Amino acid sequence: MTSGLADVSREIGRVVGPTEGPTLIAVAGVHGNEPGGVLAARRVLARLEALRGELRGAVVMLAGNVEALRQGRRYLARDLNRRWSDAALALPADDPEDVEQRALAGAIEAAVAQARGEVFLVDLHTTSAPGVPFVIFGDTERQRRFVFELPVPLLLGLAAHIDGTLSEYWRHRGLVTLAIEGGQHDDPRAVDNLAAALWVSLASAGNLAHSNAPEVEAAKRLLDTQRGALPRVIEVLSRRAITADDRFVMEPGFANLAPAREGQLLARDRDGEIRAPHDGVVILPLYQALGSDGYFWGRAHAHG
Ligand SMILES: [Zn+2]
Repeated sequence: MTSGLADVSREIGRVVGPTEGPTLIAVAGVHGNEPGGVLAARRVLARLEALRGELRGAVVMLAGNVEALRQGRRYLARDLNRRWSDAALALPADDPEDVEQRALAGAIEAAVAQARGEVFLVDLHTTSAPGVPFVIFGDTERQRRFVFELPVPLLLGLAAHIDGTLSEYWRHRGLVTLAIEGGQHDDPRAVDNLAAALWVSLASAGNLAHSNAPEVEAAKRLLDTQRGALPRVIEVLSRRAITADDRFVMEPGFANLAPAREGQLLARDRDGEIRAPHDGVVILPLYQALGSDGYFWGRAHAHG
């Protein structure tokens, strides 16, 4: 169980540079058991204060599920990284996450309203399983230009299998977005990885006048060394949707992204064994009590 971040509030901080330019919005802790994003945001903000003179545009760092972060719980009533739509946001708030969602949406809208250039949004996450950092993004040309600067595995097509994520919603609202998984919850290396992702994103978005700043170069090296033999671009093919009735249990030992051979045992449920249909990659295996995604299944993208 994660210990809560008692002192977290909606706005983690912001730095506005002396010249016009893009706005980068970071959202940390949409899941309250993922404090790593908040710690990474604080670390980068502290350094950006010293680099303010070199900053173009603005950087705004926001906490996602504030009350869940304080309590160290993934969520209070429902997953805050679902049900992002204009229709849902127009309804009266009905549960604690509805309240969080409306406040977060308002903070993002305020940052967009103040922007004097293109707006980027980076959604920072960590995972229950260990593994290398990777990026999830909706595949458009504009998004590709932004995410391809990050030397981590890039997951194509996950958005098609999950409805109502924060990053897809704001992409449809005209922002350039990505979601990054930095590593295992509470692993200090996940904080390092998420901070590195923020530095590379700041360079890729154009916020840093010198995109070869030492922080950016060090960040790229840190991320690049971890990919190993994993494909650079992975296509997500399917989602294993589960309910409590399924009695789904993932086989132990899979990382966030784990190569699997045809026929390999992946998990078990009330109907028996679940085996790999062909050679591929296990994505986001479930090793925590709460969740409706058992795992996702993918393969190396042909053009990766
Ligand atoms: Zn998360």
